[in-house]
Amino acid sequence: MKQISVVGAGTMGRGIAYTVALSGFNVNLHDIDESNLNQAKTSIEELLQKSVDKGFIEVEKAEAAKNHLTYENNLQQAVREADAVIEAVLEEIPLKIEVFQKLDRYCPEHTILATNTSTLSPTEIGASTNRPEKVIAMHFFNPVHKMKLIEIIKGLDTSEETVRIVQGLGEKMNKETVEVNEFPGFVTSRMNCLIGNEAMNMYMEGVASAEDIDKALKLGLNHPMGPLELADLVGLDSRLRNMNYLYKTLGEKYRPCPLLIKYVKAGKVGRKSGSGFYEYR
Ligand code: NAD
Repeated sequence: MKQISVVGAGTMGRGIAYTVALSGFNVNLHDIDESNLNQAKTSIEELLQKSVDKGFIEVEKAEAAKNHLTYENNLQQAVREADAVIEAVLEEIPLKIEVFQKLDRYCPEHTILATNTSTLSPTEIGASTNRPEKVIAMHFFNPVHKMKLIEIIKGLDTSEETVRIVQGLGEKMNKETVEVNEFPGFVTSRMNCLIGNEAMNMYMEGVASAEDIDKALKLGLNHPMGPLELADLVGLDSRLRNMNYLYKTLGEKYRPCPLLIKYVKAGKVGRKSGSGFYEYR
């Protein structure tokens, strides 16, 4: 496996591209939006520089990663030589299916198609292609370069060979993997959405300030981040999409907090917009 394409250059796509390039693969990063693609290039190069400055990686390694990366706004060009594609477009099933049908047409026969979905069904996505045995979910975490885990979710028709290949890919990226059978929200999103939503409900009910809810979970329950600061980092729009899907598939327990809906309507979607449960400069 030499050539990996990443489709979608937002929060996750750029993090995945950075990590994959540092692991020695050639990476083609694609986004439909030219300005997002340019921003991704800038932020990946800044992160490489920051990692060198802080002594996390050698300057030669950063240079090599930079040379491994290509930015391409034509999807067909971006994936035509890919051994694997990792998709990180918005969490919407019609969009994922549209992208996977194109990938199925444009990629070589051997290409593995992985989705970074947080909740959706790799079985449904795979069934829309002519290669369901090569379709799988690789669920990365934000920020990708820091988070150790990749959750690997098998669809109904995903082959064992595909599972083994993506586990190997994870190892090359210096990540740990867990193997999960498909069910809405897998392990991590299902748990994380529930904790985050409860924290939002508590905040809305006036149980405690956002700072104190987060502090309570960090210091009392040993969570490395508070659920509200984590939701701001993930993006409240992304979180709401996940909640809506889990509410639809798993029921009442996952009804999105009304305050989350209100914040998204106001465009306060967390860190990326400068405001959410906290204010950012
Ligand atoms: P984002 O909004 O930051 O980025 C999505 C990108 O996809 C945008 O740059 C957009 O221009 C691009 N895009 C939209 N349609 C496209 C198309 N047809 N072709 C190519 N590019 C297209 O979203 P994100 O937070 O990076 O989430 C991406 C995926 O990763 C989602 O499925 C999400 O559930 C999942 N995820 C997100 C997080 C997180 O913390 N944000 C964590 C794990 C998984």
